[in-house]
Amino acid sequence: MNIQDYIRDISDFPKPGILFKDITPLLANHKALVSCADQLVGLCPDGVKIDKVIGIEARGFIIGSMIAERLQAGFIPVRKKGKLPYDVKSKSYGLEYGEDTLEIHIDAIKAGEHVLIHDDVLATGGTAKAVCDLVKELGGVVVQCNFIMELEFLNGKDKLDVPRSALLKY
Ligand code: IMP
Repeated sequence: MNIQDYIRDISDFPKPGILFKDITPLLANHKALVSCADQLVGLCPDGVKIDKVIGIEARGFIIGSMIAERLQAGFIPVRKKGKLPYDVKSKSYGLEYGEDTLEIHIDAIKAGEHVLIHDDVLATGGTAKAVCDLVKELGGVVVQCNFIMELEFLNGKDKLDVPRSALLKY
């Protein structure tokens, strides 16, 4: 199934000059949603048991949790500053449009655990890099970062020193 058909471009969102890739049509279609999660699991490395799947707020939560279920792994939310209730580790990062801080619970990952990080879009790579740093600081091993889409012209790959996969490249 070609999930590209279920992603729409929105011009000038959230700021003038940004072409935003909107996955809500994909989420709204059961077959596309299931196929997307199945295809992402298909890109995961063989022979490595994934202990935890991280979903990055907010769109990364949706398919990230579907991937966790398929891999029989736990799901860990990484959230924007101030949203998680327990003690956190924080990391500030530059975004394609602005700056933000992400947080993870300090007990979310145990030393040596194998972690897969999922988000909808890899753009400049600042977000995924911040999450990789958080995982490493907790002693986890990032096995892969996977994305529905990679916006290759923004060179996010240059910030990542871990394997990455994307279903679609623009
Ligand atoms: P980066 O840090 O520049 O790689 O930006 C990635 C983050 O911004 C991800 O959490 C994405 O959800 C979000 N993002 C950036 N561009 C888009 C887009 O075109 N569509 C949806 N999300 C985007």
